[in-house]
Amino acid sequence: MSAPVGIFGGTFDPIHFGHLRAAFELSELVGLRKVLFIPAADPPHRGPPLLDARTRLELVRAALEDEADFEVDDRELRRPGPSYTVLTLEELRAEFGLQQSLVLLLGMDAFLGLPGWHRWQALLGLAHIAVAHRPGARPEFPDELAALVATRGTTLADDLRQAPAGRILIHPGTQLDISSTDLRAALRGGRDPRYLMPEPVRRMILATGIYALSRDAGE
Ligand code: ATP
Repeated sequence: MSAPVGIFGGTFDPIHFGHLRAAFELSELVGLRKVLFIPAADPPHRGPPLLDARTRLELVRAALEDEADFEVDDRELRRPGPSYTVLTLEELRAEFGLQQSLVLLLGMDAFLGLPGWHRWQALLGLAHIAVAHRPGARPEFPDELAALVATRGTTLADDLRQAPAGRILIHPGTQLDISSTDLRAALRGGRDPRYLMPEPVRRMILATGIYALSRDAGE
């Protein structure tokens, strides 16, 4: 079986080192041969992003320009309707075939919200799930998630290489307290995001001023 492929979806509004470090650590742990970064066009589990999908995609491209094993995948921008992860995994499963190990990468906050996702019970039939701990997201699993972790959880990365889908691996890792929400607030306040995100992303944001006058919902 060829090495697993990682799938990292997100709003990426904007992308930052918390995303990249989590993807890198999970990639090393599991032995991924590449990670597909898939920006959501219309994320269903939250309010609308501040930046339009095309600009968020460009920021992800800028972040990954020197990365050989991290690829940008724009399929959710090309697909109409809400950006449901289950649809993306179905497409990838059809493209990679039934034998390929696929690993959905999630931060703990996203994992805790999984039971609210569209057709969430189909996800493990399509891919494994690898979860990176994140500061502030206390892992108190809702009952249905606790049951799933009890039956499908593993501490062995090898289990994700031996089967195409179906296992859950939770990894403490380096927990960087960086979030897109905090970055948007900092940028609005005129603060410099240096060392919180890749330089090409920072330069693009500062040169265009795209977050300077933005407002998050509810502000
Ligand atoms: P926002 O603050 O706007 O909610 P975010 O920083 O959580 O954004 P998203 O694009 O929504 O970023 O997250 C995409 C994925 O990356 C999710 O699975 C999320 O849990 C994960 N993630 C985001 N930041 C981190 C981080 N610092 N460490 C680990 N995982 C993270």
